[in-house]
Amino acid sequence: MAKYSGAQWHPITVNYTRSGQREVRGVVIHIMAGTLAGTDSWFRNPRAKASSHFGTGKNGAVYQWVDTADRAWAQAGGNSSWLSIENEGKGGDKLSENQLTRCAEILAWAHRKYGVPLTVATSPTGRGLGWHGMGGKAWGSHPDCPGPRIVAQLPTIVQRARALVDVKPKPPATQYAPFPGDRFFRSSPRSELVTAMGRRLVAEGCGRYVEGPGPQWTDADRKSYAAWQRKRGFVGSDADGWPGRTTWDALKVPKP
Ligand SMILES: [Zn+2]
Repeated sequence: MAKYSGAQWHPITVNYTRSGQREVRGVVIHIMAGTLAGTDSWFRNPRAKASSHFGTGKNGAVYQWVDTADRAWAQAGGNSSWLSIENEGKGGDKLSENQLTRCAEILAWAHRKYGVPLTVATSPTGRGLGWHGMGGKAWGSHPDCPGPRIVAQLPTIVQRARALVDVKPKPPATQYAPFPGDRFFRSSPRSELVTAMGRRLVAEGCGRYVEGPGPQWTDADRKSYAAWQRKRGFVGSDADGWPGRTTWDALKVPKP
C-alpha cells in the first residue's frame, strides 16, 4: 500500500491493475482535457478503461485515485514503470501556480519513496519527470498530452521539487561564552574556556592551538590575544593581551 499524504484519497474500484506497478522510473504529466470533478467521475466508469494515480485541480486540490503499488491506466506501455498525474485543464493550457507546486510536491515524494531522480526525463528509458507524449506509439500516441506549454514548465516543477528536498533542519544557534571576569585570566588555572578561546584565536589566524587543560593562561596565549586585538583595531588597554569585556564580546568564543 502506498498512499501520498498530500492527496485526498479517492479510490476507484475499476480501471487499474492491482499490484501491477513493476517499478517506478518516474512521474508522467498529463492534461485532462476536462475538470478534476469530471475526471473523478469518468475514472469510475468501467467504459473509461483509463485512470491515473494522481490528479490536480487548478485551485490546488490533489486527488489520489490509485495506490502507487497498483498500476494506473494512463500511458499504455508506460503504465507498469511510471506513476501518473492528470492535471485539470484543456490542450494548450499552462499549469497554474498551484498545479506546479502540487506536481513538485508529488515528485519530491516520489523521490523520497522510490528514488526518482529530480530531473526532466525525455524518453521511456529515462527516469525523472516525464510527459505523456514522450512515449510515442508505445504510450498510445498522444503527442499533444500535455502540450508544449506544459512541457516547457517541467524544469520549473523539477526545480521546486529540488527546493523541497533540500530543506534541512536549522542547526541550533551557537551559544557564546559570557565574559568570565577580569580576574579569570590572571588567576585561573587553564580551563576548557581557555582551550575554546585558543581554538577561536587559531581560527582567526592569531595564535597556536591550545590542547587540553594545562597549568596557566600563558605568555604565548597573551601574545596571541594581543595580536588578535590589534588586528581587530583595538588600542590601548583593549590591546594589552588581557581579555576585557569589550574584546571578549567581539571574539565570540563558543560555549565549551
Ligand atoms: Zn495523457
